[in-house]
Formats: sequence, structure tokens, C-alpha cells
Amino acid sequence: MALPPLKQRFAELIAAPSVSCTQAHWDQSNRPVIERLAAWLGELGFACETQEVAPGKFNLLASRGSGPGGLVLAGHSDTVPFDAELWQSDPLRLREADDRWYGLGSCDMKGFFALIIEAVLPLLEQPFRQPLLILATCDEESSMSGARALADAGRPLGRAAVIGEPTGLRPVRLHKGIMMEGIEIHGQSGHSSNPAYGHSALEAMHGVMGELLALRQQWQREYDNPLFDVPQPTLNLGCIHGGDNPNRICGQCALEFDLRPLPGMDP
Ligand SMILES: [Zn+2]
Repeated sequence: MALPPLKQRFAELIAAPSVSCTQAHWDQSNRPVIERLAAWLGELGFACETQEVAPGKFNLLASRGSGPGGLVLAGHSDTVPFDAELWQSDPLRLREADDRWYGLGSCDMKGFFALIIEAVLPLLEQPFRQPLLILATCDEESSMSGARALADAGRPLGRAAVIGEPTGLRPVRLHKGIMMEGIEIHGQSGHSSNPAYGHSALEAMHGVMGELLALRQQWQREYDNPLFDVPQPTLNLGCIHGGDNPNRICGQCALEFDLRPLPGMDP
């Protein structure tokens, strides 16, 4: 197959849906993105290896040149979920307006792979003294299972890495950690007229949330790193699901939250 031009590569990557989400009804395979990248990079002489991390979820490791050291250009192949109604155009169709390209994942960050190829094209005539590795992971927006699988495989990837996350084109050399965690409480449902009929998972979760917010306050007193725009560690209560009716004791409640520790904190 012939390598499509830059704009078409952008458009194809955006048109290939690859939502990853901790909510199962949103979660999709990233296979269409990985297959396209592997085909294009294979065309350019890269050795492509796909790693199936979970059913329908793949990492791609594409390399050119061999030996120790080398440069890694890394990104994630998935996007967050979207609400098509809130978009001014189809999120899966590349749209050009005001000298910009719009589409889900154009900036964060499927577009990066289209750009990598553009950057590499003029260099392919010469031999590489050290390997170039292009890495596309899965599930960065949800479980991080792709990055975890790579870390577990324990293989050295390169001497330096550039990650194509959007930073307004400012180099960013350090990053907070991130953990996405969940707490699920199982109580006992029952009719609301008598609290003795059950145990409210929702009320127990209220206690949990209080503890988490107190923990956040403690961390934000103890840790501070002025190199970050937000100099303290953060904890965000992101979503909660529980119960079904006002006149029923809530039997089950689940909370999901993220934590972004500073370098040096013990996860
Ligand atoms: Zn991203």
C-alpha cells in the first residue's frame, strides 16, 4: 500500500475510533489505529511488533535500526469518550477551520503519529547510528494497561524518549504521576421506611469521601514542588454511581478518583 499524505493520515487516524474508558459501554478496541500505523510504518521499513495487552487492546512497537541506545517517540493510540452533540462537527471527521485541524485525538494525540511519519520521511535514506523506536500504547486514558505491559516486559527501549502529548509546543521535562483508583462498597438494600432493613452503601461512601478529602488536605500541606503549575499533589473525585430510588436503601455504591503525586512521593 502507498503511504497516504499527511492530512489523509491525520484524517484516517481520527476516523478510526479508539475510545478507552473505565466505563465498559464506552470502551473500544484500538485495533484500527494500530493496524494503520503498522501498515504505514512497515511500508517505511520499520520492523513492527504488536503486543496484545488485553482482548482487542494492542501496543505497537515499530523500530528502525538496531543496537543499544536510541530514541523513542512515544504516544497513546486511544482517546477519551466524546459527546458528539457538544461538538460543532463530527468528532471522527477531520475538519479544517481557522488554519487548524479539528477532530477527536488530533491534538491528544493520534495526530502525533501522523507527524512522526512526516518528520522521519526525509531521514530514511541514511543509515541510523542508533535505533529509532515508535511506540503507540493502548488504554492511556483508562487503565494504563499498555504502559504497564511494556514496563512488565522490562525491555530497554532507548536512551531518550519524546512523548507527543500536547504542551502548547513548550518542552516539558517532568510530569506528575497518575493513579486512577476505585472504591466499591457493598451494603444491603431494603425499604427506606426502616433503616434497620439494610445498610446504606451511599452513606458509607460519604464517610469514604470525607476521608479522601482529608488525606488530600494533608498531602497538600506536606508536599510542594514549584516546578509545576499546580505545585501540590491532587486528588479528584471523578465519578460516583450508586443506588436506584429515593425510597430504597442504597445497596451498592462505587466511586472512581484520580491521584497525581509529585516526583518523590511514594505511591
Ligand atoms: Zn494524552
